[in-house]
Amino acid sequence: MNIEEIWEKSLLKIEEKIGSSIFELWIKPIKPVQLKDQQVVLEVPNRFFKEWIEDYYPMLINEVVEGIAGYPVTFKYKIAEKETADIKRIEARLENRKTKLASRGIYLNPKYTFDNFISGQSNQFAGAAARAVAGSPGKVYNPLFIYGGVGLGKTHLVSAIGNTVADKRSDYNVLYVSAEQFTNEVVTSIRHQKMAELKEKYRSLDMLLLDDIQFIQNKEQTQEEFFHTFNALYEKQKQIVISCDRPPREIKAVTDRLRSRFSMGLIADIQPPEFETRMAIIHKKAAIERIALNEEVINFIAARIKTNIRELEGCLIRLGAQAALTGSPIDLDMAKSVLRDIIQDEERPITVEQIQKTVCEYFGLKMQDLKARKRTKEIALPRQIAMYLAKQLTGGSLSDIGKNMGGKDHATVIYACKQIEGRRAKDDNFNRMVETLLHKIKP
Ligand code: ADP
Ligand code: MG
Repeated sequence: MNIEEIWEKSLLKIEEKIGSSIFELWIKPIKPVQLKDQQVVLEVPNRFFKEWIEDYYPMLINEVVEGIAGYPVTFKYKIAEKETADIKRIEARLENRKTKLASRGIYLNPKYTFDNFISGQSNQFAGAAARAVAGSPGKVYNPLFIYGGVGLGKTHLVSAIGNTVADKRSDYNVLYVSAEQFTNEVVTSIRHQKMAELKEKYRSLDMLLLDDIQFIQNKEQTQEEFFHTFNALYEKQKQIVISCDRPPREIKAVTDRLRSRFSMGLIADIQPPEFETRMAIIHKKAAIERIALNEEVINFIAARIKTNIRELEGCLIRLGAQAALTGSPIDLDMAKSVLRDIIQDEERPITVEQIQKTVCEYFGLKMQDLKARKRTKEIALPRQIAMYLAKQLTGGSLSDIGKNMGGKDHATVIYACKQIEGRRAKDDNFNRMVETLLHKIKP
């Protein structure tokens, strides 16, 4: 198959997975250019597209195209528009930083620095603590424990500490790792009897940045290993920075001795940004991205996206892309129409359909599957979750909800709700997933 055929087939699959409105805006404008030496070159209209794809769907296109081609491929995104000298410079600087870091074995996102971290009341304390730690690692607050909800800047801050010290000192051995990666490393090391190497790697660090520590709940061996790593680094006054989606006392299923370690230094929280901070973030990001927004539009976004900075960014990027594609300026009407999926109008009631759509997107299912009388295992749980969410969020009657979800009766809906409630109480990861969905539907 040539690249055009592969791409044509891929488009159908991608649309199925992400839904048509996102597809129309982001995927359709992409053009296949070439397939050579197992590298696919795709042309995107501008930088926003490249970033958007890399940030939001890094694996989706790869997986689909590989599935259709039948062999592994790598991807390259070419930007169609003439880039301005400015943009080229920014890109080059980031690339340069990334390559430099990678040559030292440091995998940090070079974009996340203190320069572009915007402070407001909600994150001032955590921001100041992070700067202090970056200024004198191992000396002021050890460990630094940063916690806060999804998309509020934890990874940004933790990475900014790493970028700062890595920039300043070329001999500094910094490691950024998510707790999930760390867990995988522990598991692999045990399996291949390479624990000694793992210990050596972690204990020779000058700074350990461990992101999303909540992931090690219920993972005893990982906790054990982390406990010893922690002690070894702490004794040598090496800086440890930990991020988490909740405060230490709420981390369940970790040993007490580990939990008490988390509280030995400084605990700093990040709260959802207040209105003024949201305005400031939109202003600054729009300026950086050179997206022209008027106050009315900025107000509109800041008033509606309340908790998640990643979503604020998502809105901006979408608007920027739409404006670049159509060549028209961004006004309130454009903002309303482009952001309609993201922004939930407060007055508009939530529909069962909308819940189903979100659940399908989340689990990669088709709407028909959820609605039809199919009874496969992959669908049973998402359907139960959808019923539960519908009961929580819509005013619909149980039998109406049931009818919309594979022709179930009201008793089945009640049963589903009980199941989901029970599991939310017992299983933290599950609970978080449900919360994510709730939040997606009702931001
Ligand atoms: P978390 O790790 O808490 O889920 P991230 O650090 O990934 O959140 O932040 C989500 C996005 O929002 C990132 O692109 C990040 O750069 C941006 N962001 C978060 N907080 C700020 C801030 N105070 N100023 C600028 N950008 C921010
Ligand atoms: Mg994060």
